[in-house]
Amino acid sequence: MIWDLAAATDRGRRRASNEDAFIADAETGFVVVADGMGGHAAGEVASRMAADLLARRLRATPPASLTPEELEDALVAATHAANRAIFERGDREPDKAGMGTTLTALAFLPHHDAWRIAHVGDSRAYLHRDGTLTQLTTDHTWVQQQVQAGRLRPAEARGHPFANILTRALGIAGEVAVDVVRGDARPGDLYLLCSDGLSGMVNDRTLARILAAARPRAARAPRRAAAATRAGGDDNITAVVARIRG
Ligand code: CA
Repeated sequence: MIWDLAAATDRGRRRASNEDAFIADAETGFVVVADGMGGHAAGEVASRMAADLLARRLRATPPASLTPEELEDALVAATHAANRAIFERGDREPDKAGMGTTLTALAFLPHHDAWRIAHVGDSRAYLHRDGTLTQLTTDHTWVQQQVQAGRLRPAEARGHPFANILTRALGIAGEVAVDVVRGDARPGDLYLLCSDGLSGMVNDRTLARILAAARPRAARAPRRAAAATRAGGDDNITAVVARIRG
């Protein structure tokens, strides 16, 4: 199982800084997207801390050396550690009080033809397979809760005035619940990890079209996705694409 990785990030048109962080490590076989929040550039600090901590842990114990269960435990433990580190730093440094970040991390298990995701917040992971786009993660947002409760239709959630309200993020409290998503990897699979600056601006049909068009040259997909979003880009945009080679 061999994968190709490509990534793009864009500040967007309205934000003075980019508080998104990503890591795409082809050698170790993982990708991370984190979308920070907090004043005084603290959001940038939080998202960078989360991405770097995940990367450090995964490089120290590469997924290829682990069983699926061990990888899940490693991803969850690293996410908890990132949460504590951000929370404690926000507690210690007044200008970083209340900083937080989303975190979505996908790691491949090459000897098991499988992958695992650890996820907190509203960044997303998608799978494009056999022409179909599937969202792998569930947003930890107020609007998603309303959708699940039947009080909002999915189409109403996008662009909702409260669309940015997170129900979970790293760094906000001493403990956080971490979602784990499990799946198998097949040749030709395209995985997209993105911040809400992308998924909040373009619908899934547009995302599917961009991924399908970029399929032969997956390295172009993140840049195309960012370009499609930039016109209305009032948020930072980050897209990372992993393709399993056939
Ligand atoms: Ca964002």
